[in-house]
Parts: sequence; C-alpha cells; structure tokens
Amino acid sequence: IRYSERDGWHDAKIVARAPFQMDSASAVLHYAQEIFEGMKAYRLPDGGAALFRPYENAARFRRSAERMAMVPLPEELFVESVRALVRQEAGWIPEIDGGALYLRPFMIASEVFLGVKPSAEYLYAVIASSVGAYFKGNAPAVTLWVTQEYTRAAPGGTGAAKCGGNYASSLIAQAEATRNGCDQVLFLDAIERRWIEELGGMNIFFVFDDGSIATPPLTGTILPGITRDSLITLARDMGLELREEPYAIDQCRADAESGRLVEAFACGTAAVVTPIGTMKMRDGDFSIGSGGPGQTTTRLRQALIDLQRGTAPDPHGWLERVL
Ligand code: PMP
Repeated sequence: IRYSERDGWHDAKIVARAPFQMDSASAVLHYAQEIFEGMKAYRLPDGGAALFRPYENAARFRRSAERMAMVPLPEELFVESVRALVRQEAGWIPEIDGGALYLRPFMIASEVFLGVKPSAEYLYAVIASSVGAYFKGNAPAVTLWVTQEYTRAAPGGTGAAKCGGNYASSLIAQAEATRNGCDQVLFLDAIERRWIEELGGMNIFFVFDDGSIATPPLTGTILPGITRDSLITLARDMGLELREEPYAIDQCRADAESGRLVEAFACGTAAVVTPIGTMKMRDGDFSIGSGGPGQTTTRLRQALIDLQRGTAPDPHGWLERVL
C-alpha cells in the first residue's frame, strides 16, 4: 500500500515477494525513517487460523509512525492488510507444534528528496514467513550479557518506537554478548546505568520467593511489548501479585545471591517466554534460582501458549479469527 498527499493510502495488492526498485535518493535510505511490527498467526484446533491481539500491533505501529514523523496508517487498514495476507497464505502455517505464520508489517519513507525533513510519501507492506517453534519442548534457560558499555535508548529518544534504527544501534551490544558467550544482551538505562530495561528483542520479568512478580515500567525507553502486556494480565488473572517497578542491576544481583529472586524470564512474540538462568557482567556472573525454568515461568508460558493456540479459554478476546 502506498501513501501520497494527493492519493492518500492507495494501490493495495498482494504480490509474490520479489526485489523491487527504489530511487537511490529515497528518504529511508538516508535518514532511516522506517518502522515495523512482528506478529504471528496460529493454527486453531478446528483447522482455522487466528492472529493474536493484532489491534495492539496496529496501535503500536501508529505510535511508532507518530514518533518517526511518518504519516500513520489507519489501524483498521493495518489489521485488514494482515488479515487478507494470512487468509491467502494460511496453507503455510506449519502443522507442527508451536509453528506459526510470522508477519512483518513495515513502512518506509519513499519520497525522493535529499533534504532533512519528514517524507511526504510512504510504502507500507507486510511479509509473511512460515516459522517453526522457537524452542522444541521446554524452553532452555538463556544466559544474558549485561552490557555496561552500550545503552539502547535515552529519554526523549526512540526507545518506545519499533523503528529499525533502534536495532541498528543495538547490534554491536548483541555482538558483545555473543563474544562473551551469552545468548542475549540485557540493557540498563542510559542515565544512571543501573536500572534494568529490556533485552535486544524481549522484555524481562522477575519472580520473587514470596510469589510476587515484577517487570520494569514503561518509561518511554523500553518497547511496550504485547507479550509483556498479556503476561501482566494473565498473572493477575491467576491471582499473582504483579508490580511494574524499577529494578536495579545491583539489587537484582543481591536478591539472586540471597535467594529472594527465584526466577527471571524474557518474553516476546518470537520466543513467547524464555527462562533466564545466568547473568554475566564485567564484574562477574550470577545465577538466578536453580538456573533452569522455574515453576511460575513455566506456568505463565503454558497459559499464554494454550491461549494463543486456541486450546484454552480466551476471556479477554485476544484471538482474532481470520479463517
Ligand atoms: N523489546 C524489544 C526491543 C523488541 O524488539 C520486542 C519484540 N517486538 C519486544 C520487546 C517484545 O515485544 P512483543 O511482545 O510485542 O513481541
């Protein structure tokens, strides 16, 4: 779908994925005016298919567009475009356990203009790609590298938007994590360098020995994850105490060592819920709980997976049937 001031949103079509031509002076290539989303369509027990909370992705996409000074795509058009694509490509949703059709809506500034100003023309598209389960069976516990060198987002910046630039700037920190033998990077806040924010592509939760759960608040520097939001609701539905509160890395280490912190997990569309076993940083490593998946992590993970696959009740109406 294209946007221009003269024609508004127009030219919607579904085509086979193929290289496409762009002018070398297209705005996105120079000033990175680009946003995207990540979502999944799941197979339902009756053979149909459903999207999980697509209006949340549509709303986040609109907020990302506003932050990046792009023309927002109407939310109804966003959901309708994804729905139409899933309907056509539903045959590609794998039958295997945990398989899904991954959807990647994105929008780029396509005006041909070298001056630094918001583009007046946009191209919006959705890519569909079949994916298997991120982990087969139980998710293994991952090791995080707590980067003290790089930060992901500063106040007033683009941290809460899902724009490509955020990922471009965090690639080096992920490479640092890999070099240090870790699976994922954990970012701290940019000002005091001690408040836990999120991973490169996932939000983070903590479970304490009194059964309560905490996750960092949405301060504008972390991505408001839809999985995060869903788990907050599911935890409260289960009667668990859930706090959105700042948590410092030094406190996290002290709590892990004293046994007050018993579980930690990361969450996002790709891996759903992933237990965190160990954190590594310059001044040494520490483990959380048993180092393996904890009881609350496993329970929340299963509850969300069952709801997404349509094998558990959906009291909040999160599944949007498309087929
Ligand atoms: N944080 C970041 C930086 C991410 O890229 C993602 C993935 N979109 C998340 C958190 C999790 O968001 P969601 O649950 O909506 O996938």
